[in-house]
Amino acid sequence: MKVEFNLLDRQYERHQQEYNEAVIRVLKSGRYILGNEVKAFEEEYAMWHGMNYCVGVNSGLDALTLAIRALDIQPLDEVIVPANTYIASVMGITLNGAIPVFVEPDEYYNIDVTKIEAAITKNTTAILVVHLYGQIADMIEIMEIARKYNLSVIEDCAQSHGAQLNGQKAGTFGDVGCFSFFPTKNLGAFGDAGAILTNDKSLADKVLMLRNYGSKAKYYNEFVGMNSRMDEMQAALLRVKLKQIEVLLEERIQLANKYMDNINNDKIILPKVKKDESSHVFHLFIIQTEHRDHLQEFLARNGIKTQIHYPIPPHLAECYIDLNHKEGDFPITEKGARQVLSLPLYYGMEELEVEYVINVLNSY
Ligand SMILES: *Cc1c(COP(=O)(O)O)cnc(C)c1O
Repeated sequence: MKVEFNLLDRQYERHQQEYNEAVIRVLKSGRYILGNEVKAFEEEYAMWHGMNYCVGVNSGLDALTLAIRALDIQPLDEVIVPANTYIASVMGITLNGAIPVFVEPDEYYNIDVTKIEAAITKNTTAILVVHLYGQIADMIEIMEIARKYNLSVIEDCAQSHGAQLNGQKAGTFGDVGCFSFFPTKNLGAFGDAGAILTNDKSLADKVLMLRNYGSKAKYYNEFVGMNSRMDEMQAALLRVKLKQIEVLLEERIQLANKYMDNINNDKIILPKVKKDESSHVFHLFIIQTEHRDHLQEFLARNGIKTQIHYPIPPHLAECYIDLNHKEGDFPITEKGARQVLSLPLYYGMEELEVEYVINVLNSY
């Protein structure tokens, strides 16, 4: 049997008719940028979160970059960020000239809240939280710290659409929630797209302008902005998927639970999930093992594709040599980078495929 890491066409096929209709509708509308589809998606996405404002942009990285810019975070300000994240979280900070200050993760792979205060200095202006792999971080504690030190909070929700803490969704705790709709994400477009969520009207207005050359009225430019507009086609397609999202997420969680309940091998460490069932939407299913490369080869020989999220932590990335970090600075993060392995998990994955992966893992 062969098991791919992801098969995006399976989710297309399931609602093929509706996706096709959405595309045709946009093609026939004659309006391809900043039209009714983007507006409707923004409203629907905000409503799904019970938030006032959503602004669609071109990618998750742009959502982070523009959100940080709109919060008026200045060059050389320090922004606290988990050391174990996808590098885009860090780039959102450094593209604004601010300085990332890394904090190690806890056993849930999210920022260790007990280590945040020690990282705060007089130059700290924000905390960028990442709900990594789909599990929501300790937002109650993080918001308390942020209030105590008067810091902005940006949530990177690229992996956590719909994850909840006490019934409240990721992206609604801080000043701004940043989302990616990259095709493989839990809510994925058919190309690049992203969005920010906020209840702060002036922040939403500012991102609205920044995504469109810093302008609200045509040819009147208040800021030096970017071109980061979500396009009509992606918005129309995302609206189709957003209608199915609860069912899709539930399916994903069921597949993940099957892994959780049935993988049984002393050499393999399973993810830790908080008690609240809805806290984890399993964007990725991460196992850890000391024999990671060996296990990955073993799985590959048995037809199972896996990936590593992520092999090089941002503080050791070549592009961040100037931050002057070295191996050993964040040992928990570095150990994770050597040991984590992501199993196949995607919409439309069949039970038989999950069972096959489980059997092969248990035979290792
Ligand atoms: C995917 C991802 C991003 C970036 O999203 P893009 O749409 O690819 O720019 C940012 N942060 C995290 C944690 C991600 O997983």
